[in-house]
Amino acid sequence: MSTPRVEIDLDKIRHNTQFLVAQLKPRGINVIGVTKAVCGHPEVARAMLDGGAVGLAESRISNVERLRNAGISCPITLIRPPMMSQLARVVDSCSASYNTEIEAIKILGAIAQEKGKIHNIALLVEMGDLRDGILPGDLNAFAEELVDLPGVSLRGIATNFACFSGKIPSSQELTTFSRLADDLEQVCGPCLIEISGGNSANLPWGVGPHSKGRINELRLGEAILLGLNPATGEPITGLQTDAFTLMSEVIETKRKPEMVETPRAKQEVKYPRVVSDLCAASRSILAIGYQDVDVDGLTFPEGTTLKGATSDHTVVEATDGHWKYGDKISMKPNYSALLRIFGAPDMVTVLLSRHSKPKSITTKLGRPRLSLVGAEDMYR
Ligand SMILES: *Cc1c(COP(=O)(O)O)cnc(C)c1O
Repeated sequence: MSTPRVEIDLDKIRHNTQFLVAQLKPRGINVIGVTKAVCGHPEVARAMLDGGAVGLAESRISNVERLRNAGISCPITLIRPPMMSQLARVVDSCSASYNTEIEAIKILGAIAQEKGKIHNIALLVEMGDLRDGILPGDLNAFAEELVDLPGVSLRGIATNFACFSGKIPSSQELTTFSRLADDLEQVCGPCLIEISGGNSANLPWGVGPHSKGRINELRLGEAILLGLNPATGEPITGLQTDAFTLMSEVIETKRKPEMVETPRAKQEVKYPRVVSDLCAASRSILAIGYQDVDVDGLTFPEGTTLKGATSDHTVVEATDGHWKYGDKISMKPNYSALLRIFGAPDMVTVLLSRHSKPKSITTKLGRPRLSLVGAEDMYR
């Protein structure tokens, strides 16, 4: 089977979703599966929905369209405020969108009205991450402006933490956010259905003893996909952390002289690194590079260490034994590596599941790129 390829264990994604749903549902919190790291991969989305996610969230309209084209009909919310140039596509394919600009909402309403639809709006509130969001003090005035607009319906508020500033939310801040829902309803009437309290970084709060107030939803990407808490990088107990495996092939193995530090052609080139040991180990080159993956975000097999990478080559060293030409090396991606893998044009996607029958899926480009196989078939 060709490389580079990413193998996705759908059972692990389903398990992670189920596990989180089982913890959050009794606390009154719904799980929304965030598919942006896998570019809206429909089978990953289905595994999240099978695991109990009540809906999906996406940053990019192209990914939402990919999900819709694959026949996914559940609620999908656009969680990055929409671009003016894409508003008609938002009305066509999204059940709701997060918004921070009144002009966008006016246009969304006009388009929705023309199409005989109502587009649902959630207002994104800035609670300290300092990325997108309406300041809490401006929220009521903003909402008053939109309640009477035709074609749109105010349905919820949302906040996001730990993405831009890296700030981890305190339970106090989440209580403050929850109170904003009450304040807003003083001016708009009881309209808020979804009070979305944040992403995977809020899980410790979500499963903790604090009152959830009116917060009834978390949007989870990294926790479901990688089983990690993005705020700490630590694995979350009970979750599988190896749903994704990247495979690459050795195209050369040789002993090479020790690298010495010489003036670099380009100062900004971070690699090659200086290799300190005395060429005791065998050096291999993998046919993968920064164009395919954030190489620094990969975990290599034990006894193999990363020496550096360029756009299309990755240099590794094996301390015990050696990799030979044609060997396939498996690596575990972190979130940043995952993002790049799913955007890489040459990447082949292989789906593993013990529950589904083998099937082939054709991409938008019309060429078969994905095949769903049983895990047993994979390793025969
Ligand atoms: C990316 C993103 C999420 C999901 O974040 P994870 O850390 O992957 O759970 C949720 N909400 C918004 C607004 C996002 O941009």
